[in-house]
Amino acid sequence: MKKTLLKLIGGICICLAYSCVDDRVMEDPFAGKPAARLGVGQLANQLLAGDQFTRMEIEMVYMSGYRPTNFMLGEMVTFLEDYVNKSDGIIFRQKEIPALGQANYTISDIRELEETHRERYNEREIFTVFLLVVDGYFSQDEEENFALGAAYNSTSMVLFGPRIVENSGGFRRPSLPVLETTVTLHELGHLMGLVNNGTAMVHEHEDDEYESHCDNESCLMYWAVETNRGLNLMGSTVPELDENCKNDIRANGGK
Ligand SMILES: [Zn+2]
Ligand SMILES: [Zn+2]
Repeated sequence: MKKTLLKLIGGICICLAYSCVDDRVMEDPFAGKPAARLGVGQLANQLLAGDQFTRMEIEMVYMSGYRPTNFMLGEMVTFLEDYVNKSDGIIFRQKEIPALGQANYTISDIRELEETHRERYNEREIFTVFLLVVDGYFSQDEEENFALGAAYNSTSMVLFGPRIVENSGGFRRPSLPVLETTVTLHELGHLMGLVNNGTAMVHEHEDDEYESHCDNESCLMYWAVETNRGLNLMGSTVPELDENCKNDIRANGGK
């Protein structure tokens, strides 16, 4: 119908311009909702490199009571500035949504919330990352072993707000801002394709038992960092990436 309309207008230029825009949208495998539905690590190069996407937008949607701390926002900027090539800058959007009061969230619950509340997807030169903070636990948690956060799609991650609150601030526990930041940066590391999951390893360092994680206990990408098992490894500061992880990032377009 659109084509007919254009024919009626009769302008060849209009037709060409229209089909050009149309083709670009259809051919760009890294833009829009389809790209956001790819798996974790599958847009690692586009996230890290500055070839196509020169700007980054972080969209944070949090349930009431779980607003990300300013400390986390600051640390995220530093982390991204250290590792990604986005010469046109990084901007943040924040939106509060009502708490649902749900005890547990399945991955499909989380994806549904994203579908409802996410407004920004990759387009033109802008690479987008979505962070959701929910007011409940992950449905796949076990009594002794639970998740603080997760990366679940190519540009999407989630934090389980109550887990972070309950496991921070006590004796020999990280403070809430440090724990929240640690988990968020760890999940960002997964979106960057670490370890060996979208970003190839320069030197072998994937954990034998826990895939997509670094074998170095003091690295941000150590498996235990996103679970309760890592709490005793954390001190008063956010763990950093080790040399192996940094090398991988550089070799895949990051810095
Ligand atoms: Zn992990
Ligand atoms: Zn590492």
